[in-house]
Amino acid sequence: MTPGSNRNRPLLTLLRVGRLYAPEPHEETDLLIADGRIAALGRNLAVPEGWPVNLVEARELTAVPAFIDQHVHVTGGGGEGGFVTRCPEITATEIAAMGIGTVVGVLGTDSLSRSPADLLAKVRGLRAEGIAAYLYTGAYRVPPPTLTGDLQRDLAWIPEVIGLGELAISDHRSSQPRQDEIERLVSDVRVGALLAGKRGICHFHVGDGDRGLEPLRRLLSETEIPADQVIPTHVNRRRALLDEAADYALTFGASIDLTAFEEPGEEGLSAFDAVVLLLGRGVPKERITISSDCNGSLPEFDAQGGYIGMRVARNTALIADWQRLVREDILPLEQALDLIAGNVARVLGLQARKGRLAVGFDADVTLLDGELQPRKTFVAGRCVHEG
Ligand SMILES: [Zn+2]
Repeated sequence: MTPGSNRNRPLLTLLRVGRLYAPEPHEETDLLIADGRIAALGRNLAVPEGWPVNLVEARELTAVPAFIDQHVHVTGGGGEGGFVTRCPEITATEIAAMGIGTVVGVLGTDSLSRSPADLLAKVRGLRAEGIAAYLYTGAYRVPPPTLTGDLQRDLAWIPEVIGLGELAISDHRSSQPRQDEIERLVSDVRVGALLAGKRGICHFHVGDGDRGLEPLRRLLSETEIPADQVIPTHVNRRRALLDEAADYALTFGASIDLTAFEEPGEEGLSAFDAVVLLLGRGVPKERITISSDCNGSLPEFDAQGGYIGMRVARNTALIADWQRLVREDILPLEQALDLIAGNVARVLGLQARKGRLAVGFDADVTLLDGELQPRKTFVAGRCVHEG
């Protein structure tokens, strides 16, 4: 993937696949892509002779909407064990190889050696390499670090900024934000986003603390903030928190985000187990999303809060857990796709362009083999992964 290679590609791409899930299964198995968007879906589509077209024959593969990962430490997270524990950046190849076409970059614990400006630069770099990348302004910390010195201005003037995150609550690494501080930040994001015509989501990192989701319950009960502006993540980090998240989703009609932990540990649940539990509790699948938290740190602390060690999170568990949902008949393929595509697009306010294969939508297409393994990823019609 080289910057600027866009210009040398034909405007038209014709994808011929074996099956297509939009997410609902389709009879049409050809996609015509024109200038980055889906121009037509049908059988035996053709373009007039002599027109320059990039023809992709993949009758053995299944086309699905490219996956969307709303929590990626694209510049690397971590640092909780000193400077030697700073996690590395992610590459466009590592994203696309998992069938992921869209990411939202996020800052976490460390907003001293990492900044929103660095995050925006990385997001723009990923865009130049073909990935649809966005960012949250802010970090764990309150007041949140911003690009322009003001949350509303970040939302209003910077197209790549789609919200605030990951603001930490119920965590010993948080700023211990007071309720009125949380209310002020969320309302600032809301108004900045309204002016810019964005959803303006507030993506909350929920830690291990006993307060759990209480600050968000209060926010939604005591203010006029709508539930779809608030997304708590990591809610499967311990069983009691997941139970609370199920109640929260049902009470407020709110969405919750699971993290695809590679090793959920003794207290935590894998994203797979968490989806099974949430569906069993009656949480509609429309309210559930899964993200990777990749290139963040997985630090371990002892009972006194002392740092013990750290691993770097990857995005492989996101796909592995999702594949298990289909293979073990928890959800059929067309419904499981929502958890890592359609629902995520809606949560982020990108549902008019992404998360579906339909005429007019961005040509973000992942081709899966019979084992549900991503073989090719297209973003805006450009092939960003082939393997
Ligand atoms: Zn987090």
